[in-house]
Amino acid sequence: MQRRLPKQGRLYNYAGWLTMKGVKAKQYLSDKVTAGERVTGAEALQLWQLFGCMELAALAQLVRLRHNPAPVVTYLVDRNINYTNVCNSDCSFCAFYRHSPSDPEAYVLSREVIAAKVREAIELGASRILLQGGHNDELPYSFYLDLIEWLSSNYPLQLNAFSPSEVHQMTVVSGKRSLEVLQDLKAAGLFGLPGGGAEILDNEVRKRISPKKIPAERWLGIMEEVQSLGLVTTATMVIGFGEELEHRIRHLERLRDLQDRSIKGGLEGFNLFISWTHQFNERTSLGRSRHAARYGAGAVEYLKNVAWSRIVLDNIRHHQSSWPTCGAEIAELGLHAGCDDIGSTMMEENVVSRAGATTATKWSMSPEELERHIRQAGFEPRRRDSAFVLLNHPAAQAAADAAA
Ligand code: SF4
Repeated sequence: MQRRLPKQGRLYNYAGWLTMKGVKAKQYLSDKVTAGERVTGAEALQLWQLFGCMELAALAQLVRLRHNPAPVVTYLVDRNINYTNVCNSDCSFCAFYRHSPSDPEAYVLSREVIAAKVREAIELGASRILLQGGHNDELPYSFYLDLIEWLSSNYPLQLNAFSPSEVHQMTVVSGKRSLEVLQDLKAAGLFGLPGGGAEILDNEVRKRISPKKIPAERWLGIMEEVQSLGLVTTATMVIGFGEELEHRIRHLERLRDLQDRSIKGGLEGFNLFISWTHQFNERTSLGRSRHAARYGAGAVEYLKNVAWSRIVLDNIRHHQSSWPTCGAEIAELGLHAGCDDIGSTMMEENVVSRAGATTATKWSMSPEELERHIRQAGFEPRRRDSAFVLLNHPAAQAAADAAA
C-alpha cells in the first residue's frame, strides 16, 4: 500500500506537518510500526504526542517480538565498582564526585578493596565487572592500563570499564589519541565499554548540565572507535534534565545513525539500550536550583520513554528495563513495553543513589530476585553475559548435575 509520507522539511512543525488528523494519523503511525518500517524524527514526535503510554507499550512489544520472539527475559549478574570519586567535570546533576583530591571524602580504591569486591561478585556468580569513575587528574595513564591488566589476568570476568568521557580523560593525561588509548586498553584485557556519560546527546542540554564534559559528537566518535575494535558496547539515555522532546529525538537519532553505520560495516554496534530517569536532591546543584521543579521524570514517563525508544531505535536488538530509579515493579512493566532484558544485579551503586533515587535504600538485586520479577511479569528468565551469550541456567545446571 502506498502511503503519503510527511515532508521532511517540516520536521518538527506539528501544525504544518499533520494534514491527517488525530485518529487517521495514529492509524498511519501504528500501521507503519506494525509493518516494521522506520519512523522519522517527525513521526517519533507524533508518536509521543498522540499515543498514550500503554498504546506505545503495545506497539513497542511488537518491535521487541520482531527482534526477540522467545518469551524470555535475560539478566546479567555483575558488580559495579567506582574506582575513584575525584572528578574535574563538575556535572550539575552529580552528588557523587569530589572536585579536590584533598577533600576528606575523596577516594581512589586500593587494589585490596577492589579485590575484595571482585571476590564477592564471583561468589554471587558474576560474569562481569563494571568499572566507572570520575575524571581524576592525579591518576596517570598507567593506572588504567595496570588496573585492567591486573584484573584480567587474575579474575575470570568480563571487564566492561570506563565511559567515552573517561577515555577522553586518558587522552588528556597520556597525550595519545582515543583510538590508541582504546587499543592499549583492549590489549590489557578490556572486554567492553559501557555507554555511561551519554545523558542526552544534544549539546544544548550538555552545555547546560555538564559543560565540561565531552560534547555529543565526541561521545559518539569514541563509541564508533570502540565498536571498530570489536569491543562490546551499550547505549544509554537519561531523561528528566528539563530537556525538550526534540532533544530526546536527536539523542535517539544519533544513536540510530551510528548503529546503522556500524551494522553496515559488519560490526555488532550497541548490543543493548538502557534508559533511566535523572534523580536529583539538594546535594546536586540542579536539585538546589530555582528551576528544580522542571527536572525529573516519573514512572509513567519512564515507561513511555522505554517504549518509544524501542520503536525509534529499531536497530538495537536488546533493550533493558531498569529497576534502580523507578523500582522493580516498574521494571516488570517495562518488560511489557518493549524490553527483553532487566538490569542488573549491580551489587552497589554510588552515583545515582547519592542524587536520591527512590530505591536509595537498596542498590543490589540478587539473581533470584531478578528471576522472580521476570517470572512475575510472565517471562522465562535466562542468565547472560555482557555479550548476550546465554549462560547455564541454574535449573538446567542442577538437572545436569543430578543426571551426572
Ligand atoms: S557524573 Fe561523572 S563526569 Fe560528571 S561529575 Fe559525576 S563523576 Fe564526574
